[in-house]
Amino acid sequence: MDIKTLLHNLREEVSCPVCTNVYTDPKHLPCLHTFCLHCLKHWHTTSHGRDTIRCPKCQAISRVPESGDLKDLPTSFYLNGLIDVLAIKECKTSRVRCGNCDKKSAESCYCFNCCVFWCEKCIIGHNIIRNNKDHRVLALKDFQDKDYEDVMKRPAFCPKEVHNKEELKYFCKDCETPVCQICVTIEHGGHNIKLIKEEAERQKTELKSFIEKQRHNLQAKINAVSRLDEDCATLIQQGEDVKREIQTFVDNLIAVIEAKKKNIFEEVAKETSKSIESITRRKTEIERQMTAIKSSLEKAEKLLTRSSNAEFEIVQLKKSLDTIFEGVHPIEPTDCDPKFVAHFVFVENYKLFNTQNQINWNFEKTNKSRLL
Ligand SMILES: [Zn+2]
Ligand SMILES: [Zn+2]
Ligand SMILES: [Zn+2]
Ligand SMILES: [Zn+2]
Ligand SMILES: [Zn+2]
Ligand SMILES: [Zn+2]
Repeated sequence: MDIKTLLHNLREEVSCPVCTNVYTDPKHLPCLHTFCLHCLKHWHTTSHGRDTIRCPKCQAISRVPESGDLKDLPTSFYLNGLIDVLAIKECKTSRVRCGNCDKKSAESCYCFNCCVFWCEKCIIGHNIIRNNKDHRVLALKDFQDKDYEDVMKRPAFCPKEVHNKEELKYFCKDCETPVCQICVTIEHGGHNIKLIKEEAERQKTELKSFIEKQRHNLQAKINAVSRLDEDCATLIQQGEDVKREIQTFVDNLIAVIEAKKKNIFEEVAKETSKSIESITRRKTEIERQMTAIKSSLEKAEKLLTRSSNAEFEIVQLKKSLDTIFEGVHPIEPTDCDPKFVAHFVFVENYKLFNTQNQINWNFEKTNKSRLL
């Protein structure tokens, strides 16, 4: 973030998410969220755990410093710098507290060497001390962007009061904490101590390569997701294609079956009318014979009634009767023999339904493996 953007969002940047005021003694938790020390202390007494603390913002749980005092959490020197920058920007409306006498004033100065504010009275005392004669002191009203940047870049001092504002020049790799010269001598004997500048440079390089690696990782995942999306689209397309092919195949199959059915229907109709025709012919013939028999019977019965006094007639007419019954056949056994009546049956072919052997068409799935 450049200094202009930073100055623009300054108040937001230095506001504690718990109390919403400008941070007082900003401490950060291992999750990198920052809170006022007093806010964290209050939160810790009301939240669970003695040895652990839950981040009020992201709920991540971390260990309380070994001393048991939240004061020993890492201080955000960056935010402290920003808080001073805000104080300078708003000195006219809010006035600035003197680092020496605590009086609030709009006419204060800032010493870039002592890294504190001085009110107009105390600065006189500061200036007459011989050791301070090279200190760079600037009236708050004269601050420019470059000066704000210098406030941000100021060194950090050891927060331990007895270490008398020694600069935090070193980093203890064993305790993972910035330390001053006095800290090194008294508390970190034999520890792996590095110059903080060098350690920061090393960690910056490490962080850069980590970020680079994660960017690649992210890009690879983005690519993988878009490939998966493509795969989905291809699959949907393939599914549609296969369905269309099956539809065409089945339509053709049905057309073939329909044609076969039509053929058989036509044949059945033909055979039926042929058989009916022959039955009708037979029936007509039998009916014709029935009529002939009926009329012969009538004649014969008439003759018989007259027979008592017409014996001569009967004898004479025997020849006539023979003529009458000529052409009338006796009952033929074939007239009502069922074996002469056509009988249709449907011959099924259930083998057609045996998909394993007869209709061997199916849908197949092949797996194409892809390395993510
Ligand atoms: Zn707070
Ligand atoms: Zn957090
Ligand atoms: Zn003062
Ligand atoms: Zn000074
Ligand atoms: Zn120290
Ligand atoms: Zn140490």
